[in-house]
Amino acid sequence: MAEFRQNSSGVWQQAFAGDVFNTAVYLKRLSAETGVAFASTTGKDMLSQQLRQYCERVSLDIRWLKSHESRSCGLYFIQTDEQGERQFSYYRERSAARTLVQQFTAADWCAISEQTDWVFYSAITLSILSAEDRKRFIEHLMRLRRQGVKLAFDTNYRASLWESCDSARTWVYCAIDNSDLVFAGTEDMAGILNCPAITAKQLANELAELSVPELVLKAGKEEVGLLVDGDYLTFAVEPVSKVVDTTAAGDSFNAGYLAALLNGQPLSERVQWAKTLAAQVIQYPGAIIPESAMPTMVPNKSDHQHG
Ligand code: ADP
Repeated sequence: MAEFRQNSSGVWQQAFAGDVFNTAVYLKRLSAETGVAFASTTGKDMLSQQLRQYCERVSLDIRWLKSHESRSCGLYFIQTDEQGERQFSYYRERSAARTLVQQFTAADWCAISEQTDWVFYSAITLSILSAEDRKRFIEHLMRLRRQGVKLAFDTNYRASLWESCDSARTWVYCAIDNSDLVFAGTEDMAGILNCPAITAKQLANELAELSVPELVLKAGKEEVGLLVDGDYLTFAVEPVSKVVDTTAAGDSFNAGYLAALLNGQPLSERVQWAKTLAAQVIQYPGAIIPESAMPTMVPNKSDHQHG
């Protein structure tokens, strides 16, 4: 999506962002040797063209970035009010990305099966699809999984994008149950479960009956939980003293985790890379921090018990 953010002088600044897009950009930065493709649909409008150029500039593979004839790039505007609260306005009802399932041919799915090891998507991906496309999308992903592609999913929940909370719960549980790796945010899941709050441990118990090989529980600055092979592990988060903007905290966390996993790192290092990048990202405004501000990840070669 194209992001428009008003700075303190009232000037609008434009960037590109979106949850899986942010994860793709950060993953590529952390893991230059990994091929990272951004699969979606843009329009043919000016912003869509610039988004495509941006992807190429940051070395994202756009072989599965389709373009729709008449629809255009989704937009959102962020303004900060006098109390410092951020307000978002979305213009995405007719975005090109909503048609992504219709753009992908059987040959594309076949190529994805042959040319990728992992597919990562989120509850936002599901939310913007029609009910019929959502069903087709999940069926395609399940077929990919049977063909050996691993699936990673994030429970990113935006209530306004769903027709109902019940529908969100049904689809998110279906996605979780059919994934190899799941990132579940406690705030997102509290919304989906329609409860005021849930801890990482409670969420692990709630999701334990679903068959997820690697479940990562994100609870903001409280903790990170992992449920792997029936074992529950917990990791402390060192709180950042001056949080500037939490946009993309979860997206960058996912990228850090995935980069470490693809690098063959053990569970504790996956969490460490994830926390380190997220802690840095929240000290800068906007979703994508300057490349010069990226932390350096040092691969740990000594402990590969879960690699
Ligand atoms: P999501 O945005 O997906 O719901 P969280 O809000 O849990 O995810 O944040 C993702 C990660 O960002 C956390 O797991 C943590 O590592 C990091 N994080 C978030 N807030 C803070 C904070 N105040 N201090 C340090 N790290 C934080």
